[in-house]
Amino acid sequence: MSRILIIEDEESIAELEKDYLELSGFEVEVATDGYEGLHKALEEDYNLLILDLMLPQVDGFEICRKVRDEKNTPIIMVSAKKDDIDKIRGLGLGADDYMTKPFSPSELVARVKAHLARYERLIGSTIEENKIIEIRGLKIDTTARRVWVNGEEKTFTTKEFDLLTFLAGHPNHVYTKDELFSEIWDMESIGDIATVTVHIKKIREKVEYDTSNPQYIETIWGVGYRFKM
Ligand code: CA
Repeated sequence: MSRILIIEDEESIAELEKDYLELSGFEVEVATDGYEGLHKALEEDYNLLILDLMLPQVDGFEICRKVRDEKNTPIIMVSAKKDDIDKIRGLGLGADDYMTKPFSPSELVARVKAHLARYERLIGSTIEENKIIEIRGLKIDTTARRVWVNGEEKTFTTKEFDLLTFLAGHPNHVYTKDELFSEIWDMESIGDIATVTVHIKKIREKVEYDTSNPQYIETIWGVGYRFKM
């Protein structure tokens, strides 16, 4: 699961951002001053930072500069002033994106997803070996997007593959249908959580020996699904 750090001194804004990002399946932490934010950003590993510009103690310029000296973590900088955004762009501090407050939380989530995906591709392209998930008789080559069940290759649609890979990549974690839907399908997608049920059924038909007694994707009644390790 991707971990995001929000460095924002206006707590109501930080909470709103946190809620939306958590609903989209991200793990989110908040730092409400610049000193704490900088310390966390440098000491811990986050997949992305959302960084407010005007902060007590250490401002966003300084944090961005210091983090960039050490890490490639994607940074989205936010400011209440359009002029400031133009200024920080000009400074070339190495932020990946800029947003002017107020913005819609769904716009923020969309940009976070886009930057995480871009960063994953960037990292992926520097690693030569394909990333393989192997659990009992199931083998998933997440790079080549191929799946084998007991040595026999099976074909999956894009969403079936994404859903299977997401679950297998987070074994023993129970996800609700809502969480899976927002994780795998874009927010703009037409559809609802019933889509998740349909896709789980199709995946089971391909990977399970006995679909009425699944060995991989378990149904947790009243909650959602879990990939058994
Ligand atoms: Ca602020």
